[in-house]
Amino acid sequence: MKNYGLFIDNEWVKSDKEEEEDVINPANEQKIATIQKGTVEDTKAAIDAARTAFDRGEWPRLSPATRAESILKLSRFLEDDIIKFGETEMANTGKPVKQVVDYDVAYTIDNLRFFAGAARTIDGVAAKEYVTDGTSILRREPVGVVAAITPWNYPLMMVAWRAIPAIAAGNTVVIKPATYTPLTTLELANLVKEAGIPKGVFNVVTGPGNTVGEELAKNEKVDMIAFTGSNEVGKRISKIASDSVKRLSLELGGKAPFIVFDDADIDAATEGAVVGGFVNNGQDCSAATRIYVQEGIYEKFKKEYIEKIGRIRTGNPTDPKTDLGPLISSEHQNKVRSYIDIGRNEGEILYEGSNEDFRSGYFTRPVLFETENNRARIVQEEIFGPVPVLLRFRSYEEAIEKANDVVYGLGSSVWTRDIRTAMMAARDLKFGTVWINDHVPIPSEMPWSPMKKSGFGASTSKYSLEEFTTLKHVYVDLTGSARKSWYYQVYGEK
Ligand code: NAD
Repeated sequence: MKNYGLFIDNEWVKSDKEEEEDVINPANEQKIATIQKGTVEDTKAAIDAARTAFDRGEWPRLSPATRAESILKLSRFLEDDIIKFGETEMANTGKPVKQVVDYDVAYTIDNLRFFAGAARTIDGVAAKEYVTDGTSILRREPVGVVAAITPWNYPLMMVAWRAIPAIAAGNTVVIKPATYTPLTTLELANLVKEAGIPKGVFNVVTGPGNTVGEELAKNEKVDMIAFTGSNEVGKRISKIASDSVKRLSLELGGKAPFIVFDDADIDAATEGAVVGGFVNNGQDCSAATRIYVQEGIYEKFKKEYIEKIGRIRTGNPTDPKTDLGPLISSEHQNKVRSYIDIGRNEGEILYEGSNEDFRSGYFTRPVLFETENNRARIVQEEIFGPVPVLLRFRSYEEAIEKANDVVYGLGSSVWTRDIRTAMMAARDLKFGTVWINDHVPIPSEMPWSPMKKSGFGASTSKYSLEEFTTLKHVYVDLTGSARKSWYYQVYGEK
């Protein structure tokens, strides 16, 4: 069993109070590691390291190609160790082995490669004379010290989304991983020095959100917060960070609609609804939790969907055949169970799996609800478990209205064979991503960009890199004269 430190200035250190916390495998409730319970003082030390590295270090001043080389090295190390990283993620999150290796870590590697290359294309545009007497130049510069605060549902991938574009653009970072799932972030830190990333550029402080996270939000030396997590914490961070006028990028919750029109391929749509609805055990901000099906195919879809949900294999994450592992924690298990209880009064249970075999671990049953009430809590609120809801609609207008009738605006999908319906829905849905005849794919090149109360900013793509840069206008006088033609407006004569 490993005992992890805090990673500050490319060194492993203990917390100033030397307090530790246990890390638990949610599949069997066994202790698998200990981490440091970081304090305000530890957080300040990491911020100081990042500040010095940004203000006086070489990293922001290196060529983009040199920075890219280090990030590419990191991606190669990850690739060499893909099984080890996958197994660590599996033990820490309870995700099935096929998911962590073939998706979470593999996709993280692709994200790293993309950001390494894309950061080389950030342009400082040499512009022109917008006034006759001077030349304007636009520089795109890194923002400074970025605090990346990440959630537990995709621990390593969220480092790739929130910290890697930041450093690729020349910033320095302090990462605060979720307390349940810090292990792959800490393992990645282990590779940083060898990849040639200088000290102070990539720091990791584990510890409680309301201590480490709030100090990051408050501290005057932090320039930007890149936060992925719940709306509740996102709002709290925004309030705290406003005192020091920090830049914010917030990726918050979701409640994705999945809209199936009468002309859809039912086989494809039901496959997609299983994958979309139960991806990562429903612990996914893009999970298809609201399945809207048009009345003409409703009964047929329902029958096939229930039948396919019945084939989901919940079990031990180490088994390559397992589709769903446990939930992340007993606290979260209780939350999901409480929503299942709420749902019993709000709709009908169409399917309920069984998990009697699991004597330990935070397992739960896949449950499918049906309701006519779009305002039901199980339709409106983020359950973050394997609990989708099936709803019927009659017309295009009704589908769009119901789909948009939610505070969130992250992912959505439309299932139809008609290009016009698809394109109209792509226009009318108020969600940052609209998938047509699929649900979940996010290529590294495309923005994962929230709307409404799901936040603002972009993860992935060149637009995310832009978030981690700031614009600077440089104006160069061309006249060479002491008295410019417009000075009379301030003093003296023309
Ligand atoms: P969370 O908000 O509870 O925690 C996220 C991070 O914030 C953790 O590191 C936590 O320790 C920290 N934190 C907690 N309290 C804090 C405070 N007072 N100040 C500063 N930091 C604090 O979220 P979670 O439960 O870890 O993750 C699930 C949530 O994340 C869901 O709502 C999900 O939709 C969202 N999510 C969104 C995206 C996206 O791309 N939009 C991706 C993944 C997850």
